[in-house]
Amino acid sequence: MPKVVYPGSFDPISYGHIDLVRRGLNVFSEVTVAVARNEGKDPLFTTAERVEMVREVLKDTPNLKVDSYGGMTVDYVHSVGASIILRGIRTISDFEYEFQMALTNSHFADDIEMVFMMTSSKYAFLSSHFIKEAVTLGGDVSAFVPPLVEQRLRERLVDTSGGS
Ligand code: ADP
Repeated sequence: MPKVVYPGSFDPISYGHIDLVRRGLNVFSEVTVAVARNEGKDPLFTTAERVEMVREVLKDTPNLKVDSYGGMTVDYVHSVGASIILRGIRTISDFEYEFQMALTNSHFADDIEMVFMMTSSKYAFLSSHFIKEAVTLGGDVSAFVPPLVEQRLRERLVDTSGGS
């Protein structure tokens, strides 16, 4: 079985990501969730925090590895001897972005295949970006992220405001 890497920002991990991991494991014998450092995207959580949340919420998932990386995804994928990149698609805009990325990746590494899974309909609208916005505005995101992640989001986005 080829080795599979599921890369992303995971800032933070949501039930949409978790659903994709579980479905990936229905198809592949092992999946590595690879948290991209992505400093350029100004993440809310540090790489170590994002990795720790992924590890914690997926700790009972067999055949799953969690790692982090910097630099180009294809270089990381080569470095771990993998040949498949797993990504999810929710919307037309995801499709356009992923399509461009797949073509760019194939330019740099034509031995790596990208495999895309459509979102499950109940998570189609879920994105880390809107989850963070909802928490900031006082919304209940318990349907979108596991309890640990919700707690970390509140600590980072609500409890620090100090109130005035
Ligand atoms: P990136 O910054 O690399 O896009 P994300 O953490 O936002 O990182 O997403 C990682 C991958 O997970 C992407 O392929 C994205 O489309 C997919 N993904 C995120 N949320 C969902 C969801 N609700 N359903 C399906 N796929 C998703």
